[in-house]
Amino acid sequence: MTIKVHSANSFIQEISSMPGGEKINLCIQCGTCSASCPNANRMDYTPRELIAMARAGMREEVLSSNSMWLCLSCYMCTVRCPRGIVPTYIMHALEHLAMRHNMSTPRTRTPTLYKVFSNTVYSSGYIPRLGCMTHFYLKVNPFSALKNIPVALALFRHGRMPIKPTRLKPEALGQFRAILDKAKALEAHGEIL
Ligand code: SF4
Ligand code: SF4
Repeated sequence: MTIKVHSANSFIQEISSMPGGEKINLCIQCGTCSASCPNANRMDYTPRELIAMARAGMREEVLSSNSMWLCLSCYMCTVRCPRGIVPTYIMHALEHLAMRHNMSTPRTRTPTLYKVFSNTVYSSGYIPRLGCMTHFYLKVNPFSALKNIPVALALFRHGRMPIKPTRLKPEALGQFRAILDKAKALEAHGEIL
C-alpha cells in the first residue's frame, strides 16, 4: 500500500529531496526514535519533535537548534522506526542544511571538527587522532580541552586514542580524496556546501 502525504511547505520538500530524507512524510509521530536516542535529553528538540517541526515548516527553529549536531550516528532510531524512516540520515541532512543556510548554532563545534579531520586526512593520508584533537582544540578553545583530559586518558587506556597515526591504504585514501574532490566540485557549482 502506498501512502501519499502532501506537503505544502518548502522546508519539508528540501529535506525530502536529500538522501535519506525521502520518507520523512511517512512519520506517524510514535516517538520510538526519541525514546531510543541516547542523546535526546541533551537536544533542544528530540528526533520526533524535529520531524514534527520540519513538517510544520519551522525552518529557523529546526536549523538553529543543537539537536542534529548531537546525533551520534548510532542508528538506534533507524533500526527501530516502524515506518522505515532513517532519522539518522535526516539528522545529517539537517546538519547539511544548517551549514548551507548559515544557520548552524554557535553552540556547536562539530563543523570545525569535521573540517579539521577531513583536511588532515586528505593532505597527510594518515588518521592522526591525537593530532586532530589537538588541532581542533587549538582552533576552538585550548582551555576547553582540560575538562576532557579524563576522557582522553580513558580512550588511551582502551586503545581508542593511539599516539601513532593510522596510515590509510592507498586505495582507501584515493577513494576518500575522490569523495572530497567531488563534494568540492559540487559546492563550486552551488549544488551543495
Ligand atoms: S520512530 Fe519513525 S515513525 Fe516514529 S516518530 Fe520516529 S521517525 Fe516518526
Ligand atoms: S542516530 Fe542520532 S538521532 Fe538516532 S538514536 Fe542515535 S544519536 Fe539519536
